[in-house]
Amino acid sequence: MNFPSIENIRSSFLHGPAVYKLGSNPSRDRVRNVRKKVLGNLQDQTCLISGADGSFGFVVQTDNMWREKQLSLLGIDEDDAAAVEAAVIPPKPNPVNPGELVVGEWSHIEFVRQEKRYNTLRENFLWLRNIEKAVNLDLKVAIPAELISDLMNDDGDIQSRPLQILDFLETRYNQMQPKDIKEIMDEFNKSFDDTITSSQYFARQQSCRTKLKHTNESIRTATAVRTCLGHFQAVAYLGKACDDWDDEVRLLADPATWTQFKTHFTKCFLQYHNKQETLKDAGIANVALTEDDVSSIITSQLSLQDGHLSAAFAEKEAQIQALSAQVDELSNSRSSPKQLSPSPSTTTDQSAMAAVLANMNKKIDSLSNGTGGDGKGKKKRTRTKRRYQNDNYCWTHGCDLSESHTSKNCNYRREGHVEDATLRDRKGGSSKWISLVLPDEET
Ligand SMILES: [Zn+2]
Repeated sequence: MNFPSIENIRSSFLHGPAVYKLGSNPSRDRVRNVRKKVLGNLQDQTCLISGADGSFGFVVQTDNMWREKQLSLLGIDEDDAAAVEAAVIPPKPNPVNPGELVVGEWSHIEFVRQEKRYNTLRENFLWLRNIEKAVNLDLKVAIPAELISDLMNDDGDIQSRPLQILDFLETRYNQMQPKDIKEIMDEFNKSFDDTITSSQYFARQQSCRTKLKHTNESIRTATAVRTCLGHFQAVAYLGKACDDWDDEVRLLADPATWTQFKTHFTKCFLQYHNKQETLKDAGIANVALTEDDVSSIITSQLSLQDGHLSAAFAEKEAQIQALSAQVDELSNSRSSPKQLSPSPSTTTDQSAMAAVLANMNKKIDSLSNGTGGDGKGKKKRTRTKRRYQNDNYCWTHGCDLSESHTSKNCNYRREGHVEDATLRDRKGGSSKWISLVLPDEET
């Protein structure tokens, strides 16, 4: 038998309970932290028991945790309902005491085989039991007796296995209260701005979803995507990224997964920041938007209104023109010769310009909603005018595409995508926006 002793497990595996020690009135976070720490320790331990996923994590994993781990090991996205449904999740291992080896009328060879099998079962069982005893001893140090006195006998010994102790602790002391849920939802609904990076933003949103998972208030993927898209739509430089999401990426997987959403926007953030770096290299420091960006944002936002010029819009047009004039003025002052080199005033002009633009976008948005609201309940955007003057065609996405987007180099292909499909020879591909690019053609 060569598995570690209880003392050996405690000193070398568990790294001491001091880090997750609870006070007599622990917060929910502290209570959750106990399982997290113990699990972390056990997941570092190689486990050869058949049916385990290679570590002793199963000792303290709930059924939900075990299931999620297996799905991720199988490479299955939790949002992919069909794949989750079809997945075969192995049960959690539960080594039992094999008792005595009962010898049958075996040949010598058969005896050797049976004995080996029996020894493995027994060793696995004893090893697991040592692990559980070691974890229990640590839990007893970490958790004040009064919190788990219901699990102790008269001598103060804990009668339960680690999983039961942790479940008990969480059921009794980790229940989510309405005010906890509200706090998490407030955090989740907080808008995105430049005080945090995109990865900090996604980490924040993810952690809110994780906290509410397996509660009645869990945030479904569709809700998460809608909320975050709303946050991004309020950021001027993400306008195109949001359009691309609506027009291209989302089409491929309906409903889209959270991973797809994060991947798409993370890519867009990266592109934006690379562009900023390039501008900086070119000596235009702190410029949040180029003039081209400004005019393309204005043009694309205004083009949404084509054909729908409502009375309300006409009324507001003067206001928008005034704002445009302000933008022009700011742009002009910025490109006047004496300020060509980076100067402190660039920053001021720039933030002023960004403020004007943000304001303007808000106005235009409220016009396109026809409600003056905050963009909630936004309808799917339709395109009534070409955005791009080229003949690019993509089998998956149709036409009126950005310069770099064709059938050949499409990044988000629908199944059956044909690489050499072109505008004139679409090979059964999408006819999206064809009427804008080839107005005479029947679609
Ligand atoms: Zn495409």
